[in-house]
Amino acid sequence: MKEEQLQLIQHDRILTVQRDWCKGCNLCVQSCPAGILSLDDGERVIVEDISRCIFCGVCAARCPDFVFTLARTAQPQVAMGGPA
Ligand code: SF4
Ligand code: SF4
Repeated sequence: MKEEQLQLIQHDRILTVQRDWCKGCNLCVQSCPAGILSLDDGERVIVEDISRCIFCGVCAARCPDFVFTLARTAQPQVAMGGPA
């Protein structure tokens, strides 16, 4: 089976969703405090609006199949030093 991994980005945060591991148990859908998770016709999780995700980690904690991973992107480089 072809792997289906989504990487959804909001600012410096990434929510990775390994959709082909989802078995459609609905636990995450019921638990997401932002109400942005649902199941598609194939009974696999979809993230409806990543801009409303609060990166609480509840989905990752509830999913028994490790579908969700939360991470931060590399911090942008900040210029060091001031005017000479
Ligand atoms: S991190 Fe929180 S708000 Fe974002 S999808 Fe998961 S449960 Fe919902
Ligand atoms: S908790 Fe995991 S297996 Fe269950 S519907 Fe959500 S992503 Fe799929």
